Amino acid sequence: EAKAAGRNTLCFFDPRMQQALAARATLEHELRRALSEAQLLLHYQPQVNDRGELLGAEALVRWQHPQRGLVPPGEFIPLAESTGLILPMGRWILHTACQQLASWANDPQRAELTVAINVSARQFHHPDFVTDVLSALQKTGANPHKLELELTESQLVQDIEALINKMEQLRARGVRFSLDDFGTGYSSLSYLKRLPLDQLKIDRSFVRDLLDNASDTAIVRTILALGQALELRVIAEGVESQAQRDALLRLGCRHFQGYLYGVPQPAEQIGAYGRATLDLRQGSA
Ligand code: C2E
Ligand code: MG
Ligand code: MG
Ligand code: MG
Repeated sequence: EAKAAGRNTLCFFDPRMQQALAARATLEHELRRALSEAQLLLHYQPQVNDRGELLGAEALVRWQHPQRGLVPPGEFIPLAESTGLILPMGRWILHTACQQLASWANDPQRAELTVAINVSARQFHHPDFVTDVLSALQKTGANPHKLELELTESQLVQDIEALINKMEQLRARGVRFSLDDFGTGYSSLSYLKRLPLDQLKIDRSFVRDLLDNASDTAIVRTILALGQALELRVIAEGVESQAQRDALLRLGCRHFQGYLYGVPQPAEQIGAYGRATLDLRQGSA
């Protein structure tokens, strides 16, 4: 107790530490306000198949800060996680993305689109998570078969029985699961076999240098082989160039996401130029 207090007191004598703490407190205060004043929004990034057809989109949260402009999630998700704000925030994200899904279902051009949502560890492990997802689906009328949840490998190191149980409950309703940033974490192959997953997402760090790095090529090839063996769909993220896409295609990858197909964008823009974009992609394939 005394030791802990001593350590804390010490921090206040370090001006840089004090500055960092103050900045964090400001950010936390602003983030709370962001939630209550509806400053968060979702952008959607296209996901396509090997013919360039739009299959769905990943919802990515942004913060429309009154002074700082559009703030990317990397700058506030970690704080939201450590403060617990990720729980109300995650519920808002679930609800908003399901609302989008339901709205696309009424649009003949977009009715088949899926929506992928990133779920943070703390959110997933909360006892109410399954109820929250089902309630978002029910309130919005979204089709659970069109909903994908993205987990990361770091989530898998916790209680695996509880994890599988939650996944099974949601999968029974039709919800699908994706393992995000695959290859960057520590998931063991035996875990992978046991988890009721539908898709692996090849992390963009492996796609970035794919063309001139033999190890990255080997890793991507291995992930694709693993996907095939375990009957999981594999999607590559961070695809920026036609050359990367062609290399991925040669390795057997059939699903893509990245700036080549579109940056994260407002929902209205998703599928708006669907056919035109398609023809372009096919022409250059
Ligand atoms: P992620 O789920 O792996 O999302 C992909 C990130 O890569 C996004 O960054 C996206 O904008 C970026 N990206 C997509 N294509 C390309 C590309 O071709 N090149 C490059 N260089 N980058 C590309 P973003 O939106 O900044 O999100 C960063 C991370 O924040 C996400 O990584 C995810 O882990 C987290 N995140 C985003 N939205 C949410 C959310 O709603 N909830 C939670 N819990 N986490 C979120
Ligand atoms: Mg993701
Ligand atoms: Mg990812
Ligand atoms: Mg990532």
